[in-house]
Amino acid sequence: MSLTCIVQDLLLNEEPNLEFPTNYYEESPKVIRIFAKLTYKLTVCHQCHHRSVIKYGFKTVHLRFTPINDKPTILYLRKQRFMCHHCNHTWLARTSLADFRCQISNRLKRSFINPLSTDRNLNEIA
Ligand SMILES: [Zn+2]
Repeated sequence: MSLTCIVQDLLLNEEPNLEFPTNYYEESPKVIRIFAKLTYKLTVCHQCHHRSVIKYGFKTVHLRFTPINDKPTILYLRKQRFMCHHCNHTWLARTSLADFRCQISNRLKRSFINPLSTDRNLNEIA
């Protein structure tokens, strides 16, 4: 199994609504870029609860992901935009990869917190 397949499986386990284009993995000398699209069906507006929601384009967000082979990894995520015809409210698709309006993925946050949560004595720190 190649590295790109492993990354794709890892992302699909966390967020099953992702779709990947044919060339979704791009590696340059300094950074790795992964491209994906997040879309799903939605019928009810979460603000006015009417059933008049349409898909209303996409917006690309950049999520910092865990480093792969010690290279910084950025997930270029095209999020589905929704619009309610009744109240004209627009919003983006939500994902479990990152918190709302956060550009750091939850996986990257956990990778920072886990080493800090282990017990270390003063000899290891000094
Ligand atoms: Zn609405």
